Amino acid sequence: MKITNHISNAKGKTLFSFELLPPIKGQSIQGIFNTIDPLMEFNPPFIDVTYLREDYIYKQHPTGLLEKVAYRKRPSTVATCAAIMNRYKVDAVPHLICGGFTKEETENALIDLQFLGIDNVLVLRGDARKSDSSFIPTPGGHAFASDLLGHVVNMNNGKYLHDHMDDMEKTDFCIGVAGYPEKHFESPNLETDFRYLKHKVDMGANFIVTQMFFDNTKYKAFVNKCRENDINVPIIPGLKPITTSKQLISLPKIFHLDIPVALSEAIHACKNEKDVKEVGIEWMINQCKELIGMGAPVLHFYTMGNPEPTKRIIRGVF
Ligand code: FAD
Repeated sequence: MKITNHISNAKGKTLFSFELLPPIKGQSIQGIFNTIDPLMEFNPPFIDVTYLREDYIYKQHPTGLLEKVAYRKRPSTVATCAAIMNRYKVDAVPHLICGGFTKEETENALIDLQFLGIDNVLVLRGDARKSDSSFIPTPGGHAFASDLLGHVVNMNNGKYLHDHMDDMEKTDFCIGVAGYPEKHFESPNLETDFRYLKHKVDMGANFIVTQMFFDNTKYKAFVNKCRENDINVPIIPGLKPITTSKQLISLPKIFHLDIPVALSEAIHACKNEKDVKEVGIEWMINQCKELIGMGAPVLHFYTMGNPEPTKRIIRGVF
């Protein structure tokens, strides 16, 4: 079922969903099931699976020469989605990224998703490869999420890359895009970033999932700005509790967000890591209760392979 239908069927009740990473190459699907199993009691209507772009590794030859080889650490987003749908009978939402795909490969992946009965996709530009200082589009691929979105919208209208495909069935994907209450880090300002978000919605995006944030006033301001500018699609807050003191540095560095003073000071005052986790979970419980009060359609958790903090938060909230 489409995410927009899950939300409208809930009639104003806030839903719960979460995101996970596909397994590392060579690992079994069991690790994924171990993340999902503890969270199924809360009836998530959908589960997101991220996509990781390939990176480069260096292979040393007997001559001593180093060869640069493209390597995808977690290749199985589509297969993970299929396994989740088969086992749990919930909707799996694959993330589709521009980086690492030609348009042809993107189209083939979307056709596979349609065959699998997957109704939703979250379309993203994708992060830069670790070895690159900024995002470099794949030759023959899409450069921005809006280009990829346009591709999916075309397929939903029965328009494929090649004319001889025009008798193909239309796809019917419900399409999500990313939004940044605190601005995307490459954007010169919030206003410019917002204009590109509006462009994605005007092109046909059906829902927005936000980057994580720890200050609900930022989400509220973001939602208000969207509504004032005629962006009326559901805006799903992305959430992650702080669970280690190191994250006070790593989360702002990786995700370009602010940690509120009250939270950073509470963490600095902790005597040990166990206390840090308790503070992080307590903060997130309060944040979630407030978000429900604000009418957030879904509380969407970035589990990062660890279901336990999310489980405690959801127990504390609902
Ligand atoms: P875009 O919407 O393309 O925006 C990228 C930047 O370009 C922004 O600064 C924007 O303002 C600007 N911009 C947009 N359109 C244009 C244009 N036409 N001309 C000029 N500038 C433009 N990354 C992964 O690799 N895999 C994942 O699975 C993944 N999942 C994510 C899930 C969520 C909910 C979020 C919030 C992020 C996720 N990311 C993921 C990270 C995301 O790919 C990065 O933040 C990436 O840098 C931007 O992606 P985007 O889709 O927002 O890009």
